[in-house]
Amino acid sequence: MTRDPRFDILFEPIKIGPVVAKNRFYQVPHCNGMGYARPRAHAAMRGVKAEGGWAVVSTEEVEIHPSSDISPYIEGRLWDDRDIPALALMTDAVHKYGALAAIELVHAGMSASNLYSREVSIAPSPIANPASYAPAQARGMSKADIRSYRRWHRDAALRARRAGFNIIYVYAGHGLSLAMHFLQSRHNRRTDEYGGSLTNRTRLLRELIEEAKDAVGADCAVALRFAVDELRGPDGIAAESEGREVVEMLAELPDLWDVNVSDWPNDSKTSRFAPEGYQEDFVRFVKAVTTKPVVGVGRFTSPDTMVSQIRRGVLDMIGAARPSIADPFLPKKIESGDIDDIRECIGCNVCVTGDYTMTPIRCTQNPTMGEEWRKGWHPEAIPPRSGSDSFLIVGAGPSGLECARLLGRRGYTVHLAEASEELGGRVTRESRLPGLSAWARVRDYRLNQLNKLQNVEMLRGSRVTGSEILEFGATRVIIATGAHWRRDGIGRANSRPIRGFDAAHSVFTPDDLLDGMLVAGPVVVFDDDHYYLGAVLAEKLRQGGLDVALVTPADRVSAWTVNTLEQHAIQRRVSALGIEIYVSRNIVEFDGSGVLLECTYSERQTAVPARSVVTVTSRLPNDELARSLNESPAAIGAAGIVSITSIGDCFAPSTIAAAVYAGHRHAREFDWPATDEARA
Ligand code: ADP
Ligand code: SF4
Repeated sequence: MTRDPRFDILFEPIKIGPVVAKNRFYQVPHCNGMGYARPRAHAAMRGVKAEGGWAVVSTEEVEIHPSSDISPYIEGRLWDDRDIPALALMTDAVHKYGALAAIELVHAGMSASNLYSREVSIAPSPIANPASYAPAQARGMSKADIRSYRRWHRDAALRARRAGFNIIYVYAGHGLSLAMHFLQSRHNRRTDEYGGSLTNRTRLLRELIEEAKDAVGADCAVALRFAVDELRGPDGIAAESEGREVVEMLAELPDLWDVNVSDWPNDSKTSRFAPEGYQEDFVRFVKAVTTKPVVGVGRFTSPDTMVSQIRRGVLDMIGAARPSIADPFLPKKIESGDIDDIRECIGCNVCVTGDYTMTPIRCTQNPTMGEEWRKGWHPEAIPPRSGSDSFLIVGAGPSGLECARLLGRRGYTVHLAEASEELGGRVTRESRLPGLSAWARVRDYRLNQLNKLQNVEMLRGSRVTGSEILEFGATRVIIATGAHWRRDGIGRANSRPIRGFDAAHSVFTPDDLLDGMLVAGPVVVFDDDHYYLGAVLAEKLRQGGLDVALVTPADRVSAWTVNTLEQHAIQRRVSALGIEIYVSRNIVEFDGSGVLLECTYSERQTAVPARSVVTVTSRLPNDELARSLNESPAAIGAAGIVSITSIGDCFAPSTIAAAVYAGHRHAREFDWPATDEARA
């Protein structure tokens, strides 16, 4: 394919202080759960981004001092010279492909737990960190502390240059850095020249930029990451007032402005809560105030949107974290005109869960993310087939689709049989729920790729039986038949069926609702799953005009979505819709006219009227087909079948990301180590 000339503008070089970015694609800092603990994995991951065409590839937050230790979270570390070699692995990997390496220097101030370093946290004024329940407070900094902090920052900039970085960040974003804490009037109660007026509160940020420029500015660009709006009205920094004034005060000082909204859940909103380009209204003023290049984010995956941002003078460079995770080769694909090969981010924030669980980053759309070093996986390069196997894949959900895509790419003959007329399994069904339409991209990307492969045949409306599999003639069979929701209430809180959860009463599963079954109100949604589905179904039912109550044994709605940065937004929405919320409650009984709830801490009981219950507790694998086949090994052997493997939810129900990964892994590794030996 050749590039559409409309997109040429995206490939113009951009001067950033003393360095030049080869195009306008800018991978902004993003966490990844690898950082200082897994530096080789980190370097390999960033290297793949550079290979994929990003002109700038940034680190995540990099702690500059032991008093900025944000354990147990795993970010970068540059406390002293001994941390330079680990970071140099990354700059080497990035430079190999002609990209610039950027480092986000951070002192986390009161946001640092210092659990490892045992330092006392520091802040503009004495404070208990509002984002933590830890029984420790930060102390207010003296003038000597401020001088020390400035020196640490300067030293870190010098070390970063030695590590090979080309762009050095000063960070005042997300409410997570000392420089930003000084800006925030609610946190900065000082009465000296660093507190009070906005000019005073900006003094430290100005000094940090000036001193970084003085230290490394001849060779390195000094970028400022600044949150222009905290989305908390007059209590915080707002784009129309202090946010704008800070940009005006510092306009020409940094070599680049990287602007966004704060805090992190506001910056990385999921597709359920914000569309592509959602930050534009907040950041568009910046370019009118400075002549320096401006980079911003907004989950950009469409090249038309990117061009529009530049042509309309909103941004100079297209910042991306999640789109670069879902598709590290996004710039290359636009450059070569292969737009429909882009693996678009679905905005689910599974990538963020890596940071929150202190494990390497995972991505729903890109199963190779985080596996670049440990497994040697590459998002685009795949080993060719090692033999003449032919495959029958049963089930075209995310797992079956990804497995078919990759086996097809490897050159195998693949038949993909799907019982339903529509492909995509749970993503197709769930993407019809409120706010989840972008999730259909999991299906669309794979179908689009599969349609290009002559060696993959898709059989819709084909419910496959065990005997048909034996007769089919494939040498390898992959079962990807998914899972179904339990109706009996068994889950985390209940190891036995809940009284009254039988067919006699109106108890519905998510599958029933996805099948279009109608529910009579008032309805109780029982969420013992704790991810997104319970609250999404409650939302859908409420939108349908029913009285809805949401009951959960957890202490908050959709408790696990803390890890996807959505929990607050979900509970706020559920509450705003007028859905009655009962947390820390289990269901004891349903009698057809109401449910009896019991507090999970006491025996206190509450009766809630309900004609229907929607139970979202746990799932059972659809494993009958696999089990029946495995009971007849002789017939399998006689049919010439070498292996029968279950993948995805029919093996063990989990996330969509896990199902995609399982499909990918099997397609890559089923013949391992044969392929590995062939490669050696
Ligand atoms: P996963 O997330 O593991 O990919 P899904 O539940 O999303 O699982 O998808 C499973 C798919 O398998 C569904 O589209 C379902 O219709 C299909 N399926 C289930 N049983 C059969 C069968 N016997 N033959 C063909 N397709 C099947
Ligand atoms: Fe996008 Fe989800 Fe992948 Fe994160 S995990 S990059 S939000 S698709």
